[in-house]
Amino acid sequence: MKYITGDKQMIKEINKSSILRVIQTNAPISRAQIAKTLNLTSATVSSIVKELIDEGIVKSLGSGTLNGSGRRPILLMLNNNNTISYSVGVHIHKNGVEAALVNLLGNVLKSSHRDFYKGGELEEQVIEAIHLVMENAAQRNIIGIGIGVNGIYNPSKDISLYIPASNMRNHTLKEKIEAEFHLPVYIENDTNAMAIGEKWYGNAKTLENYILLNIGSGIGAGIVINGKLCCGAGHAAGEIGHICVQPNGLQCICGKRGCLDTVATEYSIIREVKSAINRGTKSVVTELVSGDPRKITIDTLRQAASLQDACVLDVLKYAGQYIGIVVSYLLNIINPQAIFLSGSVAHLGEPILSYIRENALAFSMDESSAGVRIEVSALMENANVIGAASLNIQNRLQPDIIA
Ligand SMILES: [Zn+2]
Repeated sequence: MKYITGDKQMIKEINKSSILRVIQTNAPISRAQIAKTLNLTSATVSSIVKELIDEGIVKSLGSGTLNGSGRRPILLMLNNNNTISYSVGVHIHKNGVEAALVNLLGNVLKSSHRDFYKGGELEEQVIEAIHLVMENAAQRNIIGIGIGVNGIYNPSKDISLYIPASNMRNHTLKEKIEAEFHLPVYIENDTNAMAIGEKWYGNAKTLENYILLNIGSGIGAGIVINGKLCCGAGHAAGEIGHICVQPNGLQCICGKRGCLDTVATEYSIIREVKSAINRGTKSVVTELVSGDPRKITIDTLRQAASLQDACVLDVLKYAGQYIGIVVSYLLNIINPQAIFLSGSVAHLGEPILSYIRENALAFSMDESSAGVRIEVSALMENANVIGAASLNIQNRLQPDIIA
């Protein structure tokens, strides 16, 4: 917690965000329990809780069990039916833009997904995607727009944006989108946004040291240490997809050789399966795509893995081994409480997770991995847009998590 003096409004905002977090994490909870947890006076808690109830963010749940004074305390929780406050979450990935209207509990109410089209500026395409989910939502109070962007984005410069696969650089997204919607706009690297989303809406609510691994078209890590996002000096921390695992391996999109990305992204895994089939390895995949390897998708591999297809399981073992080795580095360096996995490759489930876990534990020190949870993110396929939406709440209510 920052040490702040003299600014009553700021202290109030920090207390409000802390109270909201305690309610979200521990609901149902009474005012007295909140005061005890945060070491605040009961008058402060009562006044802020009244505001949160008036704003429709928190609601009373009825009476709890008798306390020491013989009274039944009123229990509080976040308002599931809150029709007042929403946030828009946007994910800019290598092929297009996803947008969603998300309520304060992290539920997606409406979403849109469009591939990039030729001739349109990135800013225009993002604005169009946001309009699609904000249609008919004028009566709602949208607190802001959060954008998770694939690649490197430095919030302190606000204009530095690089989407590697699309080779898009230096877009001034924030300014243009704020001007269009007259709402606050927060932008982060997509994996960092997912790590923040896991804190608000996933399984990291009570954790201070954890890592979100996003394994899909690329591989990245959102690293939270002592409750704060670790962004690095140039906001490029967590680029674990570009850790070298094969010094003489394939050329990577970053220009180096043998990066983890070259063996374990969705594209790399599909490439390896195609290559095995081309070498004559028998696989149920051939039947699933009616003999046309161009039709192989990550869903085809999920189906084949569930049928115990040896060819696909071998490729997943190969990729899972390298991911697990890199996870072992993270365990040794960071010693986190948990690693949460997200992205299309993580959603292949146990067939690859078991290899990731096995290798992560085999190649890390026992002391560094003791008690660590390695599991799929609770936010599943919506992790990107929910993570982006959570940037609004994070920045407005608890900015000190962001370095
Ligand atoms: Zn690379």
